[in-house]
Amino acid sequence: MARIALIGAGPSGIAVMRAFQSAAQKGEDIPEIICFEKQDDWGGLWNYTWRTGLDEHGEPVHCSMYRYLWSNGPKECLEFADYTFEEHFGKPIASFPPREVLWDYIKGRVKKTVVRDWIKFETAVRDVSYSDDSGMFTVKVHDIANDHTYSDEFDYVIHASGHFSTPHVPFFEGLDRFSGRVLHAHDFRDAMEFKGKNVMVVGASYSAEDIGSQCWKYGCKTVTVCYRTDPIGWKWPSNWEEKPLLQKVDGYTCHFADGTTKDIDVIILCTGYLHHTPWLPDNMRVSGANLLWKDGVYKGVAWIDNPKFFYVGVQDQFFTFNMFDAQAWYVRDIIMGKIKLPSVEEMKADDKKWSDRNAALEGAEQQIYYQGDYVKQLIEATDYPTFDIDGVCKTFVQWEHDKAHDIMTFRNNSHQSLMTGTQSPPHHTPWKDAMDDSMEDYLRI
Ligand SMILES: Cc1cc2nc3c(=O)[nH]c(=O)nc-3n(C[C@H](O)[C@H](O)[C@H](O)COP(=O)(O)OP(=O)(O)OC[C@H]3O[C@@H](n4cnc5c(N)ncnc54)[C@H](O)[C@@H]3O)c2cc1C
Repeated sequence: MARIALIGAGPSGIAVMRAFQSAAQKGEDIPEIICFEKQDDWGGLWNYTWRTGLDEHGEPVHCSMYRYLWSNGPKECLEFADYTFEEHFGKPIASFPPREVLWDYIKGRVKKTVVRDWIKFETAVRDVSYSDDSGMFTVKVHDIANDHTYSDEFDYVIHASGHFSTPHVPFFEGLDRFSGRVLHAHDFRDAMEFKGKNVMVVGASYSAEDIGSQCWKYGCKTVTVCYRTDPIGWKWPSNWEEKPLLQKVDGYTCHFADGTTKDIDVIILCTGYLHHTPWLPDNMRVSGANLLWKDGVYKGVAWIDNPKFFYVGVQDQFFTFNMFDAQAWYVRDIIMGKIKLPSVEEMKADDKKWSDRNAALEGAEQQIYYQGDYVKQLIEATDYPTFDIDGVCKTFVQWEHDKAHDIMTFRNNSHQSLMTGTQSPPHHTPWKDAMDDSMEDYLRI
């Protein structure tokens, strides 16, 4: 029987296990899967910890999420096609759940199956190598709890370790002598810490927008967003302003590219993450910017130079959980021989087509439909339940418009499930007044 090493039990890794388990349920013989997960529980980034820096074993903390984090997109866009929110919660729920609710949902469809037994928790992958002679991978892991290192051999490796955990940290002149607090978004945990402070978020991404919003919601004095190329441009509350890039820091005083200055207490670097996978061989590693298409990965999953090695979830994401499913089902069917890979030349040509199309995209709407098309072609090739992907794209576009209308109220809107047709009920409390992010509070009527 073929053996698969799966690296990571976050949403992508769980999708892979679910894909194989669903084939097993249909009576098919599936390969042996061993999933290595360095944390002590599953769910990846959704498995929150208060820790920052290193964990209790000296391992880099994986979590980049924070208290009070609510879904930044409508849950209707990430819903699993084979396990709806209504099935999980037994009733329709509002459209922008907090982290704990989504974590519960991710775990729900696999909790009662055997797949948890496939996972070796607190086991970090340290090295992966491939032998052309044997055609096998050697995976070296560290059983962290028992401080024991060992190696095992596999026919395939599926890599699902996420790429929003190793911070990209730029330097600005004077930062080393800044009189306030400086941290990266990866280490942000609780907005209450910044109540009454002048907060600056550096960057124009979702992190900057959301961490700024959290700080605003929990009572900071002002928010300054500082951007490199273009301002985010939302209609911000009155105590927000956007500034062009930070040039230098002098004590508490920040100097910006337009010559203005402002005194700041806290600088939060929302400057993105690195693809950081030193355990992989140089010739199987993805690096560079966080993009909707990463070159060299056929259909976004199969490593063209060695298509026994797969990535799941390696791209930038509008689509998340149901895209990871689409990828997982596709990888499963390649491994199980249901999908035949074309020649290397054909894979390269297909890869270039998607790469070129990605490079030509302008704006969020085109990016959304691009990723929708990508998900569509994967789903058409497998038995993953088909769903209204254009409908998901439309919901994403509506969500973008809602954000442009009012960035502090977009989470109060309700959307329609593309799986069940149910319109979500409005949440009992507007997002800006809902201070309790517990699942219990969210689900109460
Ligand atoms: C702050 C933040 C907010 C987000 N909010 C949303 C949101 O609202 N909605 C949404 O859909 N998406 C959101 N995302 C996107 C997020 O990337 C996905 O939802 C999802 O978590 C990605 O799943 P993954 O399994 O690919 O990666 P991860 O969730 O990162 O999981 C990877 C797993 O691999 C394990 N691992 C890593 N390295 C090793 C190793 N060497 N050995 C063993 N195990 C390893 C990790 O411990 C982890 O459990 C957010 C991301 C961030 C950072």
